[in-house]
Amino acid sequence: MLKFQAPRGTRDLLPVDQLKWSVVFNKIRTVVENFSFGQIETPIYENQNVFTKPIGAQTDIVEKEMFEVRRMATHPTDSDEEKDRYVLRPEYTAPVVRAYLEHGLASWPQPVKLWYWGPTFRYDRPQKGRFRQFTQFGLEIFGEASPTTDAFLILVLWQIYAQLGIDRLITIDINTIGDSVCRPKIRKTLHDYLQKSRAELCADCRRRLDINPMRVLDCKNEACQKTVRYAPEIVDLTCPACKNHFRQVLEHLDDLNIPYDLNPRLVRGLDYYTKTTFEVRPTDDTNRQSSLGGGGRYDDLVQIFGGQSTPAIGFAGGVDRTVDYLLDQNIQLKVEERPKLCLIQFGQLARRKSLTVVSKLSDIGYSLVVSFDKEGLNAQLKYADKMGAALCLIIGQKEALAEEIIVRNMIDGSQEIVSVSKLTEVLKRKIKEITK
Ligand code: AMP
Repeated sequence: MLKFQAPRGTRDLLPVDQLKWSVVFNKIRTVVENFSFGQIETPIYENQNVFTKPIGAQTDIVEKEMFEVRRMATHPTDSDEEKDRYVLRPEYTAPVVRAYLEHGLASWPQPVKLWYWGPTFRYDRPQKGRFRQFTQFGLEIFGEASPTTDAFLILVLWQIYAQLGIDRLITIDINTIGDSVCRPKIRKTLHDYLQKSRAELCADCRRRLDINPMRVLDCKNEACQKTVRYAPEIVDLTCPACKNHFRQVLEHLDDLNIPYDLNPRLVRGLDYYTKTTFEVRPTDDTNRQSSLGGGGRYDDLVQIFGGQSTPAIGFAGGVDRTVDYLLDQNIQLKVEERPKLCLIQFGQLARRKSLTVVSKLSDIGYSLVVSFDKEGLNAQLKYADKMGAALCLIIGQKEALAEEIIVRNMIDGSQEIVSVSKLTEVLKRKIKEITK
């Protein structure tokens, strides 16, 4: 047993994992850049108020899952009492809205389209696909209320999943949860319906029933699911404008041949959503346990933060789950590897020369491997072989004095003596030959 291990619910990503993650990152970046989303990054921690009210004080995230961030004070004094409390971000949308207002993005030409990729933190019970630190990527569009924007956002993420090679394996669960006009009626109708079976609900739902009865609809507890099976459907309770909005979103998805499932109980775990809400899941995940991502409209959120009323919609995808799903599906996540070049030097003078040589090689598309502690040619050739080097640059005392270098092809064993001044040219040619 090692003395120290990564904290529960977190994991290390080693170089071999990072290569796979970078393939996913690059594919996502290519798609979002095609649609002119600009990348945003916000601090890893924020004032807790950024999340409490917008996400909802009664949600799992706010009630149970936030990590607090504090200065560790071995000898606390009064001045250590921070007025503000900070938490690790459990999601990105609220911080992005904060940044949107803080940096005056409301005065940019609308719509403002942003995307992000980074770590998020939730104190959850770790299990397969559920971590305490996980990476999210996501998209936000500010300043447009049209149902076409909803479909546009879904189209962009559909193209992301197509690039990742899983668009045929996934389904979008979609619903509408109304807006501030119809929400009071939705809440009252659901409350009155669920109130009759209050005793059968789990403790969380009994508590939430009076504050946000919609949350009971997507509770995973079996008894709650049974109770809501015949509950009134939200879409039937929405106002004509919300119904019309939703109908148009679905028409667009039909036009785009994007498969969706109408899920009348999908409300999402965060309070700030309005109108369209959706989740992406593997089609065979019929229990809806491992969504790859989710999103929806949040037309009131900018105002909740004190800005002008600004319609907006967003989506957040879980990178960990997506990468794991791709690997489960045997989808190759390979980057084009650059040929490895091993720098071999023996003797003090050669060692000094070797660094100067490397510093002068312009970017010719190689990846350098080198060990300065291994003495002798054989040990270094063995190392080059282990590292999978395609070429070796060999400098001994003789070559160092003659301003020359031996270039050895590790595949066929051929060698060439090259003057240092011609090295770039020769390497370019050789790398071209190897990668052809
Ligand atoms: P949410 O907005 O909570 O639906 O989160 C969006 C996506 O982030 C989910 O669909 C998951 O793919 C991912 N996600 C959320 N929580 C976790 C977690 N604890 N561990 C790993 N991925 C998560």
